[in-house]
This record gives sequence, structure tokens and C-alpha cells, in this order.
Amino acid sequence: MAVSAYDPENIFAKILRGEIPCKKVFENEWALAFHDIGSKAPVHVLVIPKKPYVSFVDFSARASEDEITGFTRTVGHVATALGLDEPGYRLISNVGPDSGQEVPHFHVHLLGGRRLGALVSP
Ligand code: AMP
Repeated sequence: MAVSAYDPENIFAKILRGEIPCKKVFENEWALAFHDIGSKAPVHVLVIPKKPYVSFVDFSARASEDEITGFTRTVGHVATALGLDEPGYRLISNVGPDSGQEVPHFHVHLLGGRRLGALVSP
């Protein structure tokens, strides 16, 4: 899948620059975690890298090993801090048009707090 150019005017870029607010859960040098505005579960948090990547395709190809490690560990830390490990949770990252990706800044959805339904409709 081709990776389009990063759009610095996407909504998550604006959140990272502090131009629009978010309900922050956690932040470190690698990532920012905040509540999804259109929550689909009792817990619905987005974790985004600080640097500009369009999607997982872009992130997995271009991010340094330190960034990948730092980001991945942060996602795990946030899930644990939210108390999700034991009941369990779902991690989703939408990539491109078929997935319905709306925001072209790589992000991971952390969903939990109840029994989640089937992953995809047939
Ligand atoms: P995706 O379809 O994977 O690109 O998901 C984008 C997500 O971003 C959706 O679940 C939206 O509800 C969420 N979203 C859009 N704008 C905001 C915002 N300003 N603050 C928090 N979440 C947002």
C-alpha cells in the first residue's frame, strides 16, 4: 500500500501542537494517549506517536527501533494503568480506506471495560 504524504493539518497533529484540546490520559517522549471523542466502549483511548506517521504502514517502515519500542511499551503501559490487563482489551489500528481510517496520523485504539463484540462484520 502506498503511503501518502503526511498532512500536518490533520486533527491529531493539531492536538500534538496544543492547538485543540484533548482529554489526556498519559504522555511521554514517544506518545500521547487521550480519550476518543466518539467513545465506542466504556474505555476508548487513542495512543498516537509524537512524530508524524500517516499509518501503521508508514510507522513500521520509517520509525526508528527506539521509537517503535518506546511507542509499543507506552501502549502497554497505558492499558495497564487503565486497569485493562486482567479483564482484557482490544487493540485496533485502522489503515487506509478499506479500514475506514479517518485521521491520517498513526494511532492505536485501546478498547475495553466490557465484553466486546465480534471484531468485524462478515
Ligand atoms: P480512525 O477511524 O481509526 O481514524 O479513528 C479516528 C478516531 O478519532 C475516531 O474514533 C474519532 O472518534 C476520533 N477523534 C476524532 N477527532 C477527535 C478529537 N478531537 N479528540 C479525540 N478523538 C477524536
